[in-house]
Amino acid sequence: MEKVDLLVRHAVIVTQNSDRVVLQDGALAVLGNRIAAIGTTDELDARFQSDNLLDARGRALFPGLVNLHTHLFQSAVKGLGEDMAVEQWVQAVTFPTAAALSAEEAYLFAMVSCLENLRSGATTVMEFMYGLQDPAVHEAVIQAMVDSGLRGRYTRYVADTGAAMGLPPALIQPADEALAHVRALQSAYTGAGDGRLDVGLSIGVIWAMTEPGLCAVRRCADETGMTITMHINESPFDNLSAQQQWGRNTIPLLAECGVLGPDLIAVHCVHMTDEDIRLFVEHGVAVAYNPVSNMYLGSGIPPVVEMEQAGVTIGLATDGSGSNNCQDMLETLKFSALLQKVRQQNPACVRAQRALDWATCDGARALGLAGQVGVLAPGLYADFFLVNPFTPKATPVHDPVATLVYSAGQSNIETVVVNGRVLLAHGAFVQLNEAELLHAAQHAAQNLAHRAGTERLLDRRGRWRPV
Ligand SMILES: [Zn+2]
Repeated sequence: MEKVDLLVRHAVIVTQNSDRVVLQDGALAVLGNRIAAIGTTDELDARFQSDNLLDARGRALFPGLVNLHTHLFQSAVKGLGEDMAVEQWVQAVTFPTAAALSAEEAYLFAMVSCLENLRSGATTVMEFMYGLQDPAVHEAVIQAMVDSGLRGRYTRYVADTGAAMGLPPALIQPADEALAHVRALQSAYTGAGDGRLDVGLSIGVIWAMTEPGLCAVRRCADETGMTITMHINESPFDNLSAQQQWGRNTIPLLAECGVLGPDLIAVHCVHMTDEDIRLFVEHGVAVAYNPVSNMYLGSGIPPVVEMEQAGVTIGLATDGSGSNNCQDMLETLKFSALLQKVRQQNPACVRAQRALDWATCDGARALGLAGQVGVLAPGLYADFFLVNPFTPKATPVHDPVATLVYSAGQSNIETVVVNGRVLLAHGAFVQLNEAELLHAAQHAAQNLAHRAGTERLLDRRGRWRPV
């Protein structure tokens, strides 16, 4: 008998492997941070023994979800500055908040976001941090990612212009300085958290970039192997400003600067022309689809079905809590399918299985992590979660995939394992004091809103002043 570190038994296992096998009475063995074996409980009982047995009777086991785009600090502004389109909203809410953010606050808000990602089944998260010049703020967000236990990629944006659009001076920096900082972060933090973290490049948005800045990011990506992510065509303003400045649309301009490539994860892509989609296919660009954020800011419905049919890899994302008001990947799963059904006026255009593919294997491929996460198979990282469907919201179950996508909520996610480590057990974090963190974040958020001046966005009568 081989000894393993954890043996999960009697689960319905949704493997997301290439045949989309669902195992009945399945078992999964973990050795170190990897999956050692998957099979039926009888098969694995005959091969393995463990001091750590997890009885998953009546539970479904899924690979951890991949959240392709968020801004972890934005949990600070949930419910602050509603009902605005993106350009107005960044100027009124997120820019002043980021500019006033301290490292201590960044840590607390990032922790809140990380914990909700985990509670909603997201075990891999790509962070897109604004280009603050205080390195301590970046280190604090990275520390939160490490401490929370999740797997992730930390990216820090380059924005070398944009004052005319209200970007505060604290968030603008020459591209070479910003890139030098990202390179330093890459050296310092690649492999942090027992190998769970790596570092990538991000570009704020087209109207906050010069053409030499765009070219410099591409050169840095080629030299360092870091991926690039960028907000692209979230609103019609991107193309409007690119046309004004360069006489071209955003995506053709990015093609000319060499930014497009298989290492680019384009975020939003709501307003796309046929030529834009063709360029994405030609260059192998992947898209992060943020359905809740697109609805919240009234940005529009991205042509995800059309992009996928053309050959673009699609992954799912929550976006920051500022334009979502939470980090719930289960809500994102559900809305990812529903919003496309509305756009296409065709209920069959995105099935539950397709939405789950976006949130698992396809998202992993977008990040360049295929063969590491997003699927349950021997040799891959042991990143998974268990769903107990026995709540009124999720019961009865006929099809575990349909239950996860359309019926499950955070209260159904009982156990979360990342890198072979049990982070959430019986619905509670094993090594973190969640209640203490939430109280500290609440206090910090109100303090920050006061300093950043964003509390003026609130109607005085409705303010939260509990006794
Ligand atoms: Zn974003």
